[in-house]
Amino acid sequence: MKKLTTLSLIALVMLGMLSSCGNKKEETPPEPPKAVNVIYMIGDGMALPQVYAAMLASGEKMTFSQFPYIGVVDTHSASNDITDSAAAGTALASDHKTKNAMLGMNPDTIPVKTVLEVMKEQGKETGIVVTCYLTHATPAAFYAKVPHRKQYEDIAVQLAESQNINVAIGGGMKHFNQRKDSLNLVERMENELGWKVYDTLDNIDVTCKKYAVIANDDHMPQAAERGDFLPRAVKTALKTLDDAENGFFLMVEGSQIDFACHANDSTWMMDEMLDFDYAVKVALDYAKEKGNTLVVVTADHETGGLTLPDPKGKYTDVVFDYSTGSHTCLPVMVYAYGPGAEQFTGWMKNTDIKAKILNSCGFENIGDSLPEGQGRKIVPRKVNLDTKVN
Ligand SMILES: [Zn+2]
Repeated sequence: MKKLTTLSLIALVMLGMLSSCGNKKEETPPEPPKAVNVIYMIGDGMALPQVYAAMLASGEKMTFSQFPYIGVVDTHSASNDITDSAAAGTALASDHKTKNAMLGMNPDTIPVKTVLEVMKEQGKETGIVVTCYLTHATPAAFYAKVPHRKQYEDIAVQLAESQNINVAIGGGMKHFNQRKDSLNLVERMENELGWKVYDTLDNIDVTCKKYAVIANDDHMPQAAERGDFLPRAVKTALKTLDDAENGFFLMVEGSQIDFACHANDSTWMMDEMLDFDYAVKVALDYAKEKGNTLVVVTADHETGGLTLPDPKGKYTDVVFDYSTGSHTCLPVMVYAYGPGAEQFTGWMKNTDIKAKILNSCGFENIGDSLPEGQGRKIVPRKVNLDTKVN
């Protein structure tokens, strides 16, 4: 009986093969579509507790709930279980974990190539939109190479001299025109380096192919004061980048979720979360309309050790409770929509995201990586470490 069954199966398989050979042509499955544009959004200090706290408190259905693909991302740096934004930004921008405080280089101070730099090499236009200094750790991780994140004036020069950035919007004017070396970097950007520099989002020539909006001396004001600056800035950048011949790469940071959680200030945190969610909505609406745009939203680390307990033990009232004024080692979430988004599920390293984004655009195996032992080491210079970093 067993033998008969086996023979029958073989016969059936052969019949199947014959009939398929008889078909004119076997259909090959169509190639999955590639992303033309990428919007990469980072909520600084934003893990799941911050997202869910905003959902609970706002009573609104947030944009985060609309992403079809969600994954989990580790956050530790090469030097610490608890990362800072410089090492985490470097990991998210490149495929290298590095030591806390280092930007755009591996632990041996050898520069690494970022996703923004690869995108530019591949002919895409690029932009950076933040609510902190444009020279702050997370945005700087995409374009700067310095051993310490607090080399703000060096970072400002690297931004000004970068050939890789078309649009830069954020704060931090003091690092450009109130410098210790007395250089007026804004004048140099406009007269020598091809930039148009604005100090407000109003009346921008969005057809200009290289401009910076440096809208405050310091970080941008808190969300309650700066209004809709971040979503407006994202819309402005998208207007400029929309007609890019080979597509674009836009990095956006909700920078001050981290600041609010360092301060354990729940009202401020909520304002920043809802503001960032609005910016995410602008990006997601754009992607849904275009159909060729990958949106990836993640975070660099968690800040504040936020939990949502019921202090009375009666399972009735949720409060926001913080266990620290600094960062924690918690993993964060990644949310993805658009071509290639299906790669962003399961557990991944923060250094995996660059390759997944490049794969979505059809740029497999393009990336860094400097061969071992190559590249020029950058000599650290002394920086003032007295003030707190975020
Ligand atoms: Zn921080």
